[in-house]
Amino acid sequence: MGRLEGKVAIVTGGASGIGEATVRLFASEGARVVAADVEDERGRRLAEKIGENVIYRHTDVTSEDDVHATVKSAVDTWGRLDVMFNNAGIVGAVGPIEGVKVEDFDRTVKVNLRGCFLGIKHAAPMMRAQGSGSIINTASTAALQAGFGNHIYSATKAGIAQLTKTVAMELGEAGIRVNCVSPGYIPTPMIGIARSLTRDQAEAKLHIMQEAFRDTQPLRGPIMPEDIARAALFLASDDSKFVTGQNLVVDGGVTGGKMWRDYQNGSNALREALEKG
Ligand code: NDP
Repeated sequence: MGRLEGKVAIVTGGASGIGEATVRLFASEGARVVAADVEDERGRRLAEKIGENVIYRHTDVTSEDDVHATVKSAVDTWGRLDVMFNNAGIVGAVGPIEGVKVEDFDRTVKVNLRGCFLGIKHAAPMMRAQGSGSIINTASTAALQAGFGNHIYSATKAGIAQLTKTVAMELGEAGIRVNCVSPGYIPTPMIGIARSLTRDQAEAKLHIMQEAFRDTQPLRGPIMPEDIARAALFLASDDSKFVTGQNLVVDGGVTGGKMWRDYQNGSNALREALEKG
């Protein structure tokens, strides 16, 4: 029996990257899944390929009407909503802070933070009525330390991590768990698109990203979208039934700090400087 047997899930950003891997894994674990995204062709193809337990729904997470309709459609189709994975996101505004355009700031906040908020807002009443549910949000290592993403992206991800905690405290008494997952560097189209590639070009170059990310963390990578999907599976399933308000970091250890060797090199350099001076 699958770990999500009988459960109904929505995965936003479900047509690509981490979301796509999660849709596949959740379905293989017995869940019925709504893949929600704006990449309609990809999403439909994915749903067709997996079969009757996955439906695709066009959902722009910045639109309250879209998010509400998608939550309603999951409940209308399958009678319940057990897992809401607010995963859609964009890199958005890039570059030095003084050059960030207000419209790029707004777009980044709208997709990442408002999108996550709307998913929580509309899933909560359904889950409250059932007396159970698991809400999972995608934050990032950029929420934890500077230097893992652009300014506004990092701020939205820190916002998601904190929203996760505050909402977890509120919804716990209703039997609803709220957690987030923070991926490290994952080779997905988003990374290429943020570097001016088209989606097709980014998909064709995923192997280059995999190679580039291989040695960027203590546990040698690459960390793949499936690794994040497995973390989401843990948070979605009853295996984590007493886990709430947490940020599950899946980064191969990269936010743990520096390697002992780096400290030793610095220490040796200081000793040499002291001996010379
Ligand atoms: P992908 O680009 O592969 O997947 C994201 C999907 O979300 C795309 O299909 C994208 O469509 C879609 N999307 C964008 N805007 C909206 C919207 N308004 N409404 C609905 N869907 C939308 O990226 P990832 O799988 O890498 O990203 C998933 C999440 O993981 C994001 O929140 C990201 O910030 C986070 N993350 C990723 C990391 C990484 O290294 N890849 C690291 C840490 C966190 P489109 O392509 O048209 O924009």
